[in-house]
Amino acid sequence: MALTSKTALVTGSTSGIGLAYARAFAAEGANVVINGFGEASAIEAERQRIESEFGVKAIYSAADMAKPDEIAAMVKLAEDTFGALDILVNNAGVQFVSPVDELPIEKWDQIIAINLSSAFHAMRAAIPGMRTRGWGRIISTASAHSLVASPFKSAYVAAKHGIAGLTKTVALELATHKITVNCISPGYVWTPLVEAQIPNTMRIRNMTKEQVIADVMLAGQPTKEFVTSEQVAALAVFLCQDAAAQITGANLSMDGGWTAA
Ligand code: NAD
Repeated sequence: MALTSKTALVTGSTSGIGLAYARAFAAEGANVVINGFGEASAIEAERQRIESEFGVKAIYSAADMAKPDEIAAMVKLAEDTFGALDILVNNAGVQFVSPVDELPIEKWDQIIAINLSSAFHAMRAAIPGMRTRGWGRIISTASAHSLVASPFKSAYVAAKHGIAGLTKTVALELATHKITVNCISPGYVWTPLVEAQIPNTMRIRNMTKEQVIADVMLAGQPTKEFVTSEQVAALAVFLCQDAAAQITGANLSMDGGWTAA
């Protein structure tokens, strides 16, 4: 149990990679704050499952990652409930596939707010407490799209490149405070976010679902396999351990070789 007595907050953890992070931290003994959208009964069932399966305390915040004041309140809720926020994972994210000149302005604004600015607002709220206590771990889910681009994903690629830059900057600012700041850059992970972009990609590229999976998603992923959410979460757990104390400012790829090509 590497994380007993720690508190971890994972944004966007009602689904996909975020839920895997929350469960992996809880499995190592951390209390967790889960966050994200979804059906209230399903979220409550998941919250209870984490508590009963792992014997930790789990609370839920409905904060909208597009709203800075709600993000600050979520961090305060974590600190008030558990006395500290030790591990912050900026993970909430949305996607919209469209040629840049047809991308609705509100979609651009939404993707930048949720996928990039929310990490700034959460860090801004969480860092003072971490600095005072002299320990912290900040991890953001970036993407292979923080390193390379794909067409029709302008806002997403811009936001993820932004996360990589934010990570490096904040890592340097906190380097002497025993607070590490890193991002993980997965390739394609089979989650609801990925499944949801298939119909638009089929339309734009005039492809079948099978063609989108093989010729778009896994075409650039040399292993020809999806990354799993559990693999991403295992790396995050490692980053929270003493063995990873000197890993900071890193953008860690987990993409089946995609960005090596
Ligand atoms: P997902 O759709 O399964 O989960 C996204 C989570 O974010 C959900 O819990 C959702 O409720 C939450 N969310 C969305 N908008 C929100 C908002 N305004 N406020 C609070 N929560 C909000 O997606 P996922 O694939 O698990 O993606 C998680 C992260 O991983 C994202 O940042 C995504 O960009 C990144 N990522 C995903 C992949 C992939 O292939 N799935 C690859 C690289 C990076």
